[in-house]
This record gives sequence, structure tokens and C-alpha cells, in this order.
Amino acid sequence: MTTAHSPALIARGLRYDYGAFEALRGIDIDVHAGELFVLLGTNGAGKTTTLDVLEGRRQPGGGSLRTLGMDPWRQRRMVTARVGIVLQESALPQELTPLEFLQLWNRLTDAAATHVPADNNLARVGLAHRRDVRIGRLSGGERRKLELATALATDPELLILDEPTSGLDPETRADTWELLRDLLRRGTSILLTTHYLEEAATLADRLAIVHRGRVAVSGTLDEVLTAHRMTTLADVFHQVSTTSPEEASR
Ligand code: ATP
Repeated sequence: MTTAHSPALIARGLRYDYGAFEALRGIDIDVHAGELFVLLGTNGAGKTTTLDVLEGRRQPGGGSLRTLGMDPWRQRRMVTARVGIVLQESALPQELTPLEFLQLWNRLTDAAATHVPADNNLARVGLAHRRDVRIGRLSGGERRKLELATALATDPELLILDEPTSGLDPETRADTWELLRDLLRRGTSILLTTHYLEEAATLADRLAIVHRGRVAVSGTLDEVLTAHRMTTLADVFHQVSTTSPEEASR
């Protein structure tokens, strides 16, 4: 288990290339145990690639990384047993019901892990009333909740979510925020990406704005605003995302 003083995740100078294209050019991130950390950035900034590397789904081309004290590329199985992951997109089996799918998921995933019973898990994400409906008939928001339930199946210490509320209506987004706050109260560390400035401002203990494969600015919301002498995150975000390539590569 992580403790109040141990980091959930430390990344220094992470690099990743897609062929000749440098997608990550030295990413530095610390996620403290028990905090919610937000990665913000425009389309193509490098957020998903960063998460892929942090989760052990891609091997970094440089830099150093510890996820829950482990090297996620070399110890991927141990990392996935303790880290819950919600991808930006995933393919759920359309013919199964949420209950059948989570029961199957619990049987297929790490036998050594403690699994949350499927019914409890569905209740926690607010899908109990839809447990016996085929997944193909669920709304987009309900599928997103099921993906979250999948990530929570082993009661993870660290939850990594790629745009968990993208495309959700305001009510469903608020439900997801409440669930994330509840997980934080129970000690889970959370790292998520979003395009929504309001989401970052509302949820984040600390945040980082990623721009062209680097962290352009990071800290608490107050620190970010003070450093940029601005009063809204929207202004900081705009300033960072309109920085010229020459300035960005300095
Ligand atoms: P979005 O907010 O749109 O999801 P992002 O910040 O998550 O964007 P990434 O998906 O990490 O950004 O992509 C970073 C850069 O790497 C982009 O320029 C993207 O076009 C490029 N890229 C991503 N995946 C690949 C790939 N498989 N092959 C080549 N280039 C890729």
C-alpha cells in the first residue's frame, strides 16, 4: 500500500517517439498518494501517450518512471493488479449484460487480487438498475460507467483515467465527480486527463498542462494562476496552447 508520504507515481524526463515523431519530449510528473492529479492539454498534446507509458502499455524511449514503486514496463502484471485503468476507448462485448461482463472480468483478471463482487461494483458506479440489460443497449454514459466499474474491480490503489467524462451530460459528469471524490476519501490516488478546464479546476489537487510532449506548467490551481499572473485557468491554458513551437522547445 502507498502511504501518505510515498508517491503513487514519479516520472522524470519521459520520452516516447512514434517513428520519427517525438510525441513525448521529457515529461515530468509526480502523483502523490491519495491526491487527484489532472493532465490537461489540447488534442495531440501527448496525454494518452503519457498514460500509456505510465501504465506499462508502451516502453519509454528515455527517462525514469516508478508507478507504485514499480517499473511498469518490466513489471506490467504486478502494476495492472494494483492500478485501475480507464482507456479513452474500449470495446465492450455487446451481447453480455453488465452483470455477466463484470462477473467474467472478475474471473479473468489476476486471481491473486481481491475482487469487488460484481453487484457491489455496479451499485457503486450507479448502474445496479441496468445490470441485466445487454451492453449493446446501454447509453454512452452508462457504458462509460461500466468501464469505470471494470477499472474498480480489483479495488485499485491508483486509478488512471483517460478522459473519463468526455461526452457525458452534466448530470452524469457530476455523478462521476462524486464517485471520484468518494474514492479519494477512501485513499485511492487518481490521475486523469481531460479537456474540460472546469473539471480540472473543480477536481484537481494538482494539475499539469501538457503541450507538445512536455509539461508546460504544473502545480496547484493557485500556484499555476500565480505563476502566470492570471485569474482563470482558461487564460493560462490559452497562453500555453498558443505558445509558438520555438518557445515551446526552449
Ligand atoms: P487527445 O486529447 O486528442 O486524445 P492526446 O493529448 O492524448 O490527444 P496523444 O494521443 O498522446 O495526444 O498523441 C500525441 C501525438 O502523437 C499526436 O501528435 C498524435 O498524432 C501522435 N500519435 C498518437 N498515436 C500515434 C501513433 N500510433 N502513431 C503515430 N503518431 C501517433
